[in-house]
Amino acid sequence: MPEQIIDKKTCWECQLCGNCCRGIILTKNKSISVEKDGQPVCKFLDDDNRCVNYNDRPFICCLYPFVIDLSKIVDEKGTARPRKAFELENLRIHDECPGYGKGKRIYANKNIQRKLEKLGEKFAYDLKAVFEKKKDVNELM
Ligand code: SF4
Ligand code: SF4
Repeated sequence: MPEQIIDKKTCWECQLCGNCCRGIILTKNKSISVEKDGQPVCKFLDDDNRCVNYNDRPFICCLYPFVIDLSKIVDEKGTARPRKAFELENLRIHDECPGYGKGKRIYANKNIQRKLEKLGEKFAYDLKAVFEKKKDVNELM
């Protein structure tokens, strides 16, 4: 599951395929996984491919396909700077997402940047607890 650096040419646009709710994310957060027709499926995914828990979905679902490069946000004294976690230069992107390489360049996409800013406002405090090893990242809601 390679994580790619996001540079000025990297593009991404969600293809609404629902794959992340049928396996990709579920391998990281088994607590929301159920089996349907022999496949892992999130218990919150309805028959129309919509998340019925959208407003309270786990952190990993909010951030996917982006992932935080932890090495970038810990300073030389070992202190984490959680708000920096949501800046593009400190993120990577999962290339197994079918949206990777499609759509606009990420650095030119204000919608993605606004979304990441909002995630920073919502999760930076909880992320601090993850860095201090007081919380597992999959517990973040
Ligand atoms: S394109 Fe990626 S983020 Fe969008 S639904 Fe598919 S797997 Fe999920
Ligand atoms: S909680 Fe929602 S967004 Fe997350 S995997 Fe389940 S259906 Fe998808």
